[in-house]
Amino acid sequence: MKSAVPRALRNARRIFPRASSTRSSSLSSSPRLGNNRLSGTTTLTSQHRNFSATTGLRDIDEDKDRKWSTPLAKQLAAAIELTGPIPLASFMRMCLTSDIGGYYTGAIEKDRDQFGLKGDFVTSPEISQVFGELIGVWFLTEWLAQGRQSRGVELVEVGPGRGTLMDDVLRTIQSFPAMANSIDVIYMVEASPELRMAQKNLLCGEDAPMTESKVGYHSVCKYNALPIVWTETIKSIPIAPHKMPFIVAHEFFDALPIHAFELVSVPASKSEAPSSTDNSSPSSKTTTPTLQWREMLVSPTPPGSTHESLKTPATQSRETPPPDFQLTRATSSTRHSLYLPESSPRFRALKSTVGPGALLEVCPDASLYASDFAARIGGSPQHPKPKPSGAALILDYGPGDGTIPTNSLRGIRKHRRVSPFAEPGLTDLSVDVDFAGIAESATRASEGVEVHGPVAQGDFLELMGIRERAEVLAKRAGEEKGRAVEKAWRRLVDRGPGGMGKVYQALAILPENGGRRRPVGFGGDVVQ
Ligand code: SAH
Repeated sequence: MKSAVPRALRNARRIFPRASSTRSSSLSSSPRLGNNRLSGTTTLTSQHRNFSATTGLRDIDEDKDRKWSTPLAKQLAAAIELTGPIPLASFMRMCLTSDIGGYYTGAIEKDRDQFGLKGDFVTSPEISQVFGELIGVWFLTEWLAQGRQSRGVELVEVGPGRGTLMDDVLRTIQSFPAMANSIDVIYMVEASPELRMAQKNLLCGEDAPMTESKVGYHSVCKYNALPIVWTETIKSIPIAPHKMPFIVAHEFFDALPIHAFELVSVPASKSEAPSSTDNSSPSSKTTTPTLQWREMLVSPTPPGSTHESLKTPATQSRETPPPDFQLTRATSSTRHSLYLPESSPRFRALKSTVGPGALLEVCPDASLYASDFAARIGGSPQHPKPKPSGAALILDYGPGDGTIPTNSLRGIRKHRRVSPFAEPGLTDLSVDVDFAGIAESATRASEGVEVHGPVAQGDFLELMGIRERAEVLAKRAGEEKGRAVEKAWRRLVDRGPGGMGKVYQALAILPENGGRRRPVGFGGDVVQ
């Protein structure tokens, strides 16, 4: 019988390089989701107001001298005054990555970043080094299973934060010179100039120069003097048929903007009723209500609003200024409401399975990234690949059972749940990831890939041997630090409400092999 622990992992000491220090500084802060992921979401249905062009714009007119909570809020209000309410995705994009002062692009104070005790949230690689080490081992197991290619391996990370995960991955792969020597280049997709610099300092050293080219920013890694290239989107990374890309996305997809919709029953008007040539048939007999999707839009809150008047949910802290913006439901179809809910059979089915009141979140950027990963691994009509190779590992939070996320937008600030519409640019925004949607986009984009999972992070990490590795680390660390190591890894696999083992999921995109070989961590064993 196959052991649950991959062969290569049974002797953890053999695999892992020297332990580095424990990451106890972040142990007492809460993960990105807070203690209960479902407790503080903005309830689109209970909070939104129906938008009508006249009331929405009058609010703004009365509001010329209004004091906005951030410079970005002021810019957004000015834009909405010109264009009318904007899609939630546009609002999220501006709040997270706008040049005017997005959350990842310069808005937060200079003396802190997004992570750890002083920041807003803490992520798995910042909690325990074992997390990144096991991802390094996962790539190693794929490299072994796919024939130990001696050149052409690319490591790609999207949304690398402080660079901690990539550092742990690289340190681990260094213990396997044959794989380490197969790596040509490391690509980092990062929107934040500050985090890009933090990553460079960690992976290349503070003194290492960074140069700019047409593709992006370049430096040389402290491991094996590998070239590292930073780009702002994955589209800037070249695709070549003989490359073997190993891609990791940890807590990246949850930061991509979503469009949100609600299904409404619309009484058929005369113009919408099927035209009848039979004049004797009264129109009331031929008109039946139709189901139509309405997009949720963002518009300013009325001047003088308070948390009380806006009914900020009890699960969100009221220590922020009252939200500058609110969700409104469009009164008619928008460009996006006509095509995004039609873009997948899963979405289309909601009309019959749920009916009026159905909610839907769609993340077009997630589809783009998933399709891109799939094309790099499996080839596509635009980028044919003679032999699929490489792998992508996506770790994030979202339903693991194929359900489509709804009401999942959250605001997070200093480890607390806040309104996602308070202090735009200073508030982190995140949403649940539609893993089934990612799987669908990947397999649609390339015939050369297959998808495994999602599986719960706790299962993935335990199958990867987290317990064995952490025990080795804890022993080496001594009694007191050992306890911190223990607490940290247990939190990553804890299936309870405060833990990260169940709400976080892992999904793998691999070269197509008819489902014959399951990857390690997803039920498969190591193939050497
Ligand atoms: N993976 C890291 C960081 C997660 S936070 C960790 O687990 O610790 C999200 C990361 O994605 C940050 O590095 C942020 O700057 C980056 N990011 C967010 N939106 C992005 C976008 N649209 N394009 C590129 N990077 C983005």
